[in-house]
Amino acid sequence: MNLIILFLFGLGLVWGSFLNVVIWRMPRGKSVADGRSICPKCKHVLAWKYNIPLLSYVFLRGKCAYCHKSISIRYPLIEFMTGIFFVWWFAVGFNFFKLVGSPWSYIQPVFWLVTGLVMFTILVIDLLYMVIPFGLNLTLFSLALAYRVGLTSFGIMNSADFFRALASGAGVCLLFVFLQAVTKAVKKVDGFGLGDIYLAPSLGLLLGWPKILPGMFSAFVLGSVVGLILIATKKKKMTQYLPFGPFLIIGTAISLLWGSAIWTWYMSLIV
Ligand SMILES: [Zn+2]
Repeated sequence: MNLIILFLFGLGLVWGSFLNVVIWRMPRGKSVADGRSICPKCKHVLAWKYNIPLLSYVFLRGKCAYCHKSISIRYPLIEFMTGIFFVWWFAVGFNFFKLVGSPWSYIQPVFWLVTGLVMFTILVIDLLYMVIPFGLNLTLFSLALAYRVGLTSFGIMNSADFFRALASGAGVCLLFVFLQAVTKAVKKVDGFGLGDIYLAPSLGLLLGWPKILPGMFSAFVLGSVVGLILIATKKKKMTQYLPFGPFLIIGTAISLLWGSAIWTWYMSLIV
């Protein structure tokens, strides 16, 4: 048990290290599979011993071995978080998402692990660069669609729910297009990026109906609260763009975990 957890944590660190590469290269239009990692400051190719997830950062005391400039805390942080995510997935998520019938008892947990990694990557890239690479949106959408089509054709999900999930995605997509047009007309800023609009259909497929509602509600509440705090503390101006992707991802995660409970509670209030 402890060995498995240690192994998964290590595996998560390695994946986190790969996500760091994706996060650095994708917004710059560089190929993810393109050669060895370099120091972003001195461009020196990193020897393998300086590229060990988490450990190299600790041993180098956060400084590049070649130019001695500091390495962003972001790299070990993302590795550590991915490691924790793998352990969480094994301890909690695996049973949470598990379906009984083979082969879905294996496909389902692996699907949510991979989907979680893609969502986490989108969150970090949007936070850092205010852009969601189209390739990542396409990956997430393909995953979600293949998964739902698979579930439906195996009879685990009924076709009415499948169409409701598709409609949820289309609805959120249209809502964002509308809000984008309104903010553009009223405030002369892009309230929603194209990346958010492309992200919407995937969220509909992942959450389905009615979980899309608590998901979007959480995203808008979080976005407003954080936005107001940033304006109040003068870190952002009213007209400045705040990436919405991270809130959409966090809202989706909240609804995946607690959406049914939130929805039942909400319905008990109004009925
Ligand atoms: Zn360097």
